[in-house]
Amino acid sequence: MAMASPAAAFSLAYVVLAVCFVFPPDEFRSAGLTVQSLLGAWLGSEDAAFVHYHLRRGTATLLAHALLPLGYYTGMCFATPEKQLCSFYQAPDGWRLFFLLSVLAPAAAGLLAYYWSRNDWNNHPLVRTISFYALPQSGWRAVASSINTEFRRIDKFATGTPGARVIVTDTWIMKVTTYSLRVAQQQDIDLTLVESRQHELLPDSSMPAQFLTIRVGTVNPHVKPFNIRLNSTEYGELREKLHAPILNAANVVIHQSLSDLFLESFTLLVETNQTYALPSNQELEPCIGCMQTNANIKLLKNCQEPQEGECQQCYCRPMWCMTCMGKWFASRQDQQHPETWLSSHVPCPTCRAKFCILDVCVIR
Ligand SMILES: [Zn+2]
Ligand SMILES: [Zn+2]
Ligand SMILES: [Zn+2]
Repeated sequence: MAMASPAAAFSLAYVVLAVCFVFPPDEFRSAGLTVQSLLGAWLGSEDAAFVHYHLRRGTATLLAHALLPLGYYTGMCFATPEKQLCSFYQAPDGWRLFFLLSVLAPAAAGLLAYYWSRNDWNNHPLVRTISFYALPQSGWRAVASSINTEFRRIDKFATGTPGARVIVTDTWIMKVTTYSLRVAQQQDIDLTLVESRQHELLPDSSMPAQFLTIRVGTVNPHVKPFNIRLNSTEYGELREKLHAPILNAANVVIHQSLSDLFLESFTLLVETNQTYALPSNQELEPCIGCMQTNANIKLLKNCQEPQEGECQQCYCRPMWCMTCMGKWFASRQDQQHPETWLSSHVPCPTCRAKFCILDVCVIR
């Protein structure tokens, strides 16, 4: 077998490195070979100033990627001295054209970056978008600092690969891509589930994964719609964080996480049980598990006669909502054997009296 020429060897190595730089695999990330880590000091911290961090990061990434063709040309000057690439006038025509384009790309990116960053980023598309959410007297910086504050909270929903992260906070839904940050306010979005894809090959899972694509549309004509992608097992968590419903236009069957599936069957079964009429002198208080809804569950031993079986009578006043009771029930189960879940006995979260699903009554 003939030895590869230095030019071919260099080209192959450069293309591989360039692709890994643009779409960094985990090995590159941990070695710090990404724009974020190389320019970490200049970019600052994402937690301290989320919006400014991504203004700089997106722009720096665009510039760094635009320099890749020029790097290739420079390397080829040394890898193929016989082509005389170092001299523009003696280089072959095709290479001259490549040289022009590889100079033009970073020049154009540089001009764009300069235009964006002028007047403290006033021309950047992200700043223009969030300006439409600003009150006339406060400007986009007030919006940015609201986004920054919400991003720092630990109760945000965050998922996705580094090249397509999805972040949902109380007010905002955001998508971080290689070059940009897309932002929409929760109160004026409409969400549509548009696609579902099965991935058989997921390194750390035995189940095929289902990925959902959700289109984030908005009634604000200045904010362009965008798509977010997530694993179907995170769908329940996403829905909890969103104020708007997700329209399932294509009637996609969603493969939910085990606990979401359980919660669904738990609710269905409990709704067929006897209901409990609240005595007129009692009032329902907020559920002590979530503080979001009023308590609406009472445990009454209905499965067998009072002295029979494993279940005991609970004398607690209603303190829990359906969702929290379902989560409590699921949390006391053998995680390896979900088929036993619905038939098992669980202690009341407050008084420890044992109950089963038949004893869970909705308050009417
Ligand atoms: Zn609750
Ligand atoms: Zn009890
Ligand atoms: Zn029972």
